[in-house]
Amino acid sequence: MRKEKCLIPNKLILTAIKMSLNKEKENKFSEWFGVPRKEIPWYPKIDPGVCVGCGLCAVVCGRNVYSYDFASKRPVIVNPYNCLVGCTTCANLCPTGAIEFPSVEVVREVIRKYKVFLKVKESLINKYRGKYVKLIEEYRMEQEYEKKKAEEIK
Ligand code: SF4
Ligand code: SF4
Repeated sequence: MRKEKCLIPNKLILTAIKMSLNKEKENKFSEWFGVPRKEIPWYPKIDPGVCVGCGLCAVVCGRNVYSYDFASKRPVIVNPYNCLVGCTTCANLCPTGAIEFPSVEVVREVIRKYKVFLKVKESLINKYRGKYVKLIEEYRMEQEYEKKKAEEIK
């Protein structure tokens, strides 16, 4: 039997996959504990007079906040709101101290204003629910075993 040939070029398929992955990534960072990420002014700023263009910030950031312009040999902030709220890794590692962040008080204010702890509690339960369910189930089985043993001795 003759195999049907796919008429969509591989390049197009790859582009579509890339676009959908990017969209997924974008959505992933669009909120922080239910707070629209754009309401939180937490992202790096580069002092161009101090940056030496080593590129370390662009390489270490795992959230694509930076790109690197090979023409000017300088990093570029392309997705500021992808920055992980409270993270300062790139600033800590920058060899010349060219990266600045706002005061962490900005984040604390957001936590208070949006009652972030309510969402944190939900996340805690979701994160550890499986673990506790297992522990409770084990405990329940232990109790049953002890009860059975006690009845056998009677
Ligand atoms: S790590 Fe610092 S010096 Fe290096 S490119 Fe980034 S901002 Fe510039
Ligand atoms: S602080 Fe962290 S998440 Fe934000 S840009 Fe720097 S390395 Fe990326």
